[in-house]
Amino acid sequence: MSKNIIILGPPGSGKGTQAKRLAEKLNLTYFGTGDLIREEIAKGTERGKDFDSFLKKGELVPDDSLNQLIRDKMASYKDGPMVFDGFPRTMDQVKIMEDVWAGDDFLVLNIQVKSESLINRMEKRRICSKCDKIFIVESDEKSVCDVCGGKLIRRSDDNPEVLKNRIKVYETQTAPIIDYYKEKGNIINIDGEPSIEVVEAEIWEKVEVDFGTN
Ligand code: AMP
Repeated sequence: MSKNIIILGPPGSGKGTQAKRLAEKLNLTYFGTGDLIREEIAKGTERGKDFDSFLKKGELVPDDSLNQLIRDKMASYKDGPMVFDGFPRTMDQVKIMEDVWAGDDFLVLNIQVKSESLINRMEKRRICSKCDKIFIVESDEKSVCDVCGGKLIRRSDDNPEVLKNRIKVYETQTAPIIDYYKEKGNIINIDGEPSIEVVEAEIWEKVEVDFGTN
């Protein structure tokens, strides 16, 4: 039986950065629905255009469309445990996950950050238009990705109005799944307020017991 990791957290909590670092460290496959959705939007497909209309408003893509996207992409992922970033986000998605990855074991990391900090961070967040690496920049002078040389851009949903809605959507639709995992007893809270490195160290300390020998 394989053990997957689900990273939960509000928008701007750093879950994407931490999920990518953790996947690399543990040599697990990274599975981020936000990246999959942005990829589809960048391709300009009909499905991508539909996704974009939800992203722009800070809404979740409907469960049915997401379910289809996941099932279409599954074939291109190698077997084995994964780090899930941004999925599941609703109770219906929890059911989709338990169906697609039936029999798998999950550890859930819940990154906690206050709303004021989220808004502050979002101002500084940029994403590489080529490789999706996330950067926190102190000024607009930093405009090129350190890894691949791609152009750093601001995500279209990283603006104050959309962010407020994303936080509201998180509180109403995603937060309830935390209670579900609490009841199952497989969730660990992580303080997401400190720097990326400090949060990374706390995550490592908490998962090392289960994964350190990978
Ligand atoms: P993220 O990169 O995880 O912050 O996701 C960016 C946006 O993609 C979200 O605000 C949603 O509009 C959409 N999205 C990502 N993951 C999901 C998901 N699991 N369910 C529905 N929409 C999602």
